[in-house]
Amino acid sequence: MLHAQPDQKLTREIFKELIEINTSHSTGSTTIAAEAMAARLKAAGFTDKDIFIGGPAANKGNLVVTMHGSGNRKPLLLLAHLDVVEALKEDWTTDPFKFEEIDGFYYARGSSDDKAMAAIWIANLIRFKQEKFSPDRDIIVALTADEEGGDFNGVDWLLKNHKDLINAEYALNEGGGGQQKDGKKILNRVQLSEKVFQSFQIEAKNNGGHSSQPRKDNAIYHIAKALDNLAHYDFPVNLNEGTRVYFERSSKIETGQLAEDMKGLIMNPPKPEAVARLSETPVYNALMRTTCVATMLQGGHAENALPQTASAIVNCRILPGEDPEKVKSTLISVFADKEISVTALKPAKISPPSSINPEVFSPIEKITQQMWPGVPVVPVMSTGATDGAYLRTAGISTYGVSGLYGEVNDVRAHGKDERINVKAFYEGQEFLYRLVKDLSTKPSVKRDF
Ligand SMILES: [Zn+2]
Repeated sequence: MLHAQPDQKLTREIFKELIEINTSHSTGSTTIAAEAMAARLKAAGFTDKDIFIGGPAANKGNLVVTMHGSGNRKPLLLLAHLDVVEALKEDWTTDPFKFEEIDGFYYARGSSDDKAMAAIWIANLIRFKQEKFSPDRDIIVALTADEEGGDFNGVDWLLKNHKDLINAEYALNEGGGGQQKDGKKILNRVQLSEKVFQSFQIEAKNNGGHSSQPRKDNAIYHIAKALDNLAHYDFPVNLNEGTRVYFERSSKIETGQLAEDMKGLIMNPPKPEAVARLSETPVYNALMRTTCVATMLQGGHAENALPQTASAIVNCRILPGEDPEKVKSTLISVFADKEISVTALKPAKISPPSSINPEVFSPIEKITQQMWPGVPVVPVMSTGATDGAYLRTAGISTYGVSGLYGEVNDVRAHGKDERINVKAFYEGQEFLYRLVKDLSTKPSVKRDF
């Protein structure tokens, strides 16, 4: 199943090189990593004209490389971020910025998020070049800065300053990936959408006074009552194309009551008892509906005074496609208190869900069955955020797919002793090699998605 050793050797070298260049926000540089990858590409025959390095700050460089195709179709974009979450050597068992192979795993910061994909995109592009592969569309690889934090998000910067370089029919990105339980592969996930992050400040004001002569009208009581109303409110269930298929496919993997409830949820209209039971599990609840929850609370200015101000932060995760303004007006009616003001904090970054495009899903399904027979492909919506949101907002459909498998109960991205299984890494490379080749060879046949 795995391809020739020389390819894997080069991939490993590229991966090691990327890992050992510190690209964290505080002390690192994505520019150095971008330049190192550019040198690899040039050594493999890519020209200066094919390669762009640029960014808004000296240490926040982004790399864009294009493998030119016949131009029959709009380009395919392959995205990965170069930056990594901070990591302190004293917190780790190994040195987070040293590439180490121990007992079948590669350990290092970025080994799973997201330098595995970055290394694979570069290694596969070099492999295509060596094979003299001629794609029917341009294949663009973009390796970017500040996905994890920082002020210079590379995808945002490229879209604003060099959209022509990355303008594509659709993109492949992180956010999906395979899941296994105790070594058994259970799902190959494709991320189609992300929830939208939006916080609101709610505030009640009052003239206050001496606490020895209290009145019923009290800023803290107003906020407490409003939050209690929120605690008892659920936004309506609203499945999109992707989450509907997610529950439909998951109902076939799960068993018993859970499987029945998933089937009840996708009925039209959904079964209320099924919705109620599923809502008790936070992850399913978050997939079914917009959620808003109190996360911070403040009020009063002295122990012996009636509060003049009380406020809270309500953090919402809005379903893609729903309007943040409507969520705000729903909150206002849930609070049902004219004394309370509701103000959006930062403007929401709205991103529409990508559709289940058979041209993309059909080869994902086909290659998944070739490599891991019987493992279902399942569309997912992230409740957190990736750079896919920027691309989707810019009109570039984005699919989070990698074929890189990890244990469901051992997710170490952003944490201590981050690692990736060595075998899973090369299988993911092979999966993405076949997928990109398929997506740039001919339009695929429609399948039953
Ligand atoms: Zn990431």
